[in-house]
Amino acid sequence: MRGRMMQTPLLISSLIEHAGRVYGTQEIVSRTVEGPIHRYTWLDARNRSIQLAQALGAHGITAGDRIGTLGWNTYRHLELYYGISGMGAVCHTLNPRLHPTELVYIVNHAEDRILFVDLTFVPLAEAVADKLPGVERYVVLTDSENMPETALSNAIAYEDFIAGSDGDYEWPVLDEGDAAALCYTSGTTGHPKGALYTHRSTVLHAFGVAMPDVFNMRPSTCVLPIVPLFHACSWGIAYSAPLAGAKIVFPGPRYDPEALTDLMTAESVNYCAGVPSVFIPLVQYWRDHGNKPPSLAMAVMGGTAPPPSLCAALEEDFGIEFRHAWGMTEMSPLGTVNTLMPEHRALPLEQRRIFQTKQGRPPFGVEVRIVDDDGNRLPHDGIVFGELQVRGPWVIQSYFKDDESRLTEDGWFPTGDVATIDSQCYIHITDRSKDLIKSGGEWISSIDVENTAMGHDDIVMAAVIGIPDERWDERPILIAVAAPDSNPTKESVLEHLAGTLAKWQLPDEVYFVDELPMGATGKVQKTKLREQYAAE
Ligand code: ADP
Repeated sequence: MRGRMMQTPLLISSLIEHAGRVYGTQEIVSRTVEGPIHRYTWLDARNRSIQLAQALGAHGITAGDRIGTLGWNTYRHLELYYGISGMGAVCHTLNPRLHPTELVYIVNHAEDRILFVDLTFVPLAEAVADKLPGVERYVVLTDSENMPETALSNAIAYEDFIAGSDGDYEWPVLDEGDAAALCYTSGTTGHPKGALYTHRSTVLHAFGVAMPDVFNMRPSTCVLPIVPLFHACSWGIAYSAPLAGAKIVFPGPRYDPEALTDLMTAESVNYCAGVPSVFIPLVQYWRDHGNKPPSLAMAVMGGTAPPPSLCAALEEDFGIEFRHAWGMTEMSPLGTVNTLMPEHRALPLEQRRIFQTKQGRPPFGVEVRIVDDDGNRLPHDGIVFGELQVRGPWVIQSYFKDDESRLTEDGWFPTGDVATIDSQCYIHITDRSKDLIKSGGEWISSIDVENTAMGHDDIVMAAVIGIPDERWDERPILIAVAAPDSNPTKESVLEHLAGTLAKWQLPDEVYFVDELPMGATGKVQKTKLREQYAAE
């Protein structure tokens, strides 16, 4: 027997409509690329998204067309999220930190018809424009006053692009399974691959993200997404904020600790989210200047495993609740969050800190399991590790323009991460499967060694890679960045590691460098390190 309830499609346009109607006066504040702070409301955002949708229609954009964005976290980029997807086209966020040749590949593969480009990225777009024959028009995210001279063909300022629209427009009622947004993974092997989200997956993910034990979004939330709108849809924050009525504060192009701190303080930000490499200098800045933003109460960190020392600094020195999260572009991207239960809060501090290195539990909507090399399920005992597989309504099935299903025969997505799962379903990522080091038949977790190394007072960043070894197959080496004005030695680092690691897990070499090669999404590029150090 069929139920008798409405079949209302879950659409991205309904998120912004809801925010405009219910939280119409709640603010969105942006540091603009032009400089000044811009401030308006969810109702304004809704109205201007409508204007944008209308303008796209007038340009001949139809359902399913891909529209690229090269933008910082600002209100205009937010409008692109809603105007593009809301009218039925696909909002394709591009990561400007990628190598230009990779960008060219991605824009052409996606067949983007229009590129929306922030002022900062106009030179980047100009440099590659002749290799992008399919792009019909460039819209620079500014007004005519700030519009630069540009070699881009058919360029127009965003404010002029939307100015002709009168707002007399109804969002189309789309199929919730239609494509809404597109994000390419950085593709450590082969070409980048596109994760093509649906309206349904995006709205369900927004519900999941807003939950109390996840990002805890509500009208009293004032969130500063440090994670860019161009990285995995800012972890869903731009969709869950209108759903929950949160205030958003966008940092624009400025990610330096001073700019972030000033903005957080001025706007009473109480929650922020980003990758560890942004928080490390931020925490140092607060220490040096004694100016942690007073309202900041919670920080979600993910993308890569944060060192326990960072978690300790946030919680003990600054009273900020630390939530460790894990996910991937293929999962919209949220997979798990480590929110402590009362029994974990009651643990002795040292044990609690160890517990917080776990990546957490899945919210409703994500299921997790681990399997061995033959695909057999492994126990959730917190000890045995295997490949982590996931499933759920916001997990990918196949990549854009690639009909091959990426799922196992029984319908799970293999993440390529290796993990344990404990009896309460907290996962602990041991490694990316390709980063695990196999030495003398035993596995060494590069993340464990890195985390321990970063517990050394004089080490701020560390990466561990395996290099080929005749006798042991592979042996770990450590490449570290020393804290300013410090002079750690190989011996002191090894001595520190020996405090908690077994002898065979200790790196054979410790190299000190000024900086580690970072990829476009804030992760250490271990492939580069392997190339460089394999020969040493
Ligand atoms: P890309 O695939 O483009 O590098 P993603 O953001 O999709 O970028 O990366 C997903 C991968 O990042 C995960 O599969 C995992 O290996 C790693 N990752 C994400 N969050 C964490 C975390 N908290 N701890 C350890 N690894 C993480």
